[in-house]
Amino acid sequence: MNVLFLGTAGCGKSLLTKSFGEWLSKVAGLRVGYVNLDPGCEDTPYEPSFDVRVLFTVRDIMRSEGLGPNGAMIRASELMAERSKEILDAVSHLDCDVVLVDTPGQMEIFVFRRAGPLLVEGLKTLSYTVSVFIIDPALSAAPSELVVSLMLGVASQLRLETPTLMVLNKADLPEGSSAAQLLSNWRRLSRLVKQTGGTFSDLASGCLGLVRRLMQASRLVKVSAKTGEGLDQLYELVHEARCVCGDLT
Ligand code: GDP
Repeated sequence: MNVLFLGTAGCGKSLLTKSFGEWLSKVAGLRVGYVNLDPGCEDTPYEPSFDVRVLFTVRDIMRSEGLGPNGAMIRASELMAERSKEILDAVSHLDCDVVLVDTPGQMEIFVFRRAGPLLVEGLKTLSYTVSVFIIDPALSAAPSELVVSLMLGVASQLRLETPTLMVLNKADLPEGSSAAQLLSNWRRLSRLVKQTGGTFSDLASGCLGLVRRLMQASRLVKVSAKTGEGLDQLYELVHEARCVCGDLT
């Protein structure tokens, strides 16, 4: 199966790819393939089995096309779409049980542009594909901020059309535990969201209801890519998602 890691810049996609991969091989005894689809990263904390940077890098595009970092990142995303067959062919030849896919730092480059949906469509033809949307507690301290983070997860699900599990990362940090507390009780969170009153509070409350209805998994797990906390629960969630979709092969 393929597991894609998605989320805002700095939420922990690369580190979770590494730590979940290590957990899967050490604890679950699975053969893990690591795919880096971030042409802008300088380094990865894992040894990639396939790295998009063998095809092009943001730094090279900046130099060769005289673009700034944002322009080069957008150009890289176009190249990823243009060369999607090559990328998918490389992924299809990986000899492993699970492929973990680390996506570009800025999620909009992958999720909201053509490259993401195109590559994910191809990945789905190779094997069962599930997304893990990582919530960064740094962007989720207040109830309304948390709703925005959850909505981004829903938007990714809508755009990539994969079962999308939501995880709260950085549980080892104090802000991680306060966001986790907010998420541990939906009724309380809903009350807090409504508390301020007014149009935007109503909007946030409506969005929260939508998130709950559309969430793929029955629960949201908290993890720490740094300490390894919660990785067993993430594995359970991924496994459950696969079973719910009726694909146990
Ligand atoms: P990405 O941009 O989403 O790929 O994020 P990275 O994996 O590069 O992580 C961004 C920063 O957050 C790095 O400094 C990581 O060490 C840190 N980080 C990621 N996950 C955790 C975590 O669970 N706990 C803590 N304390 N730091 C984390």
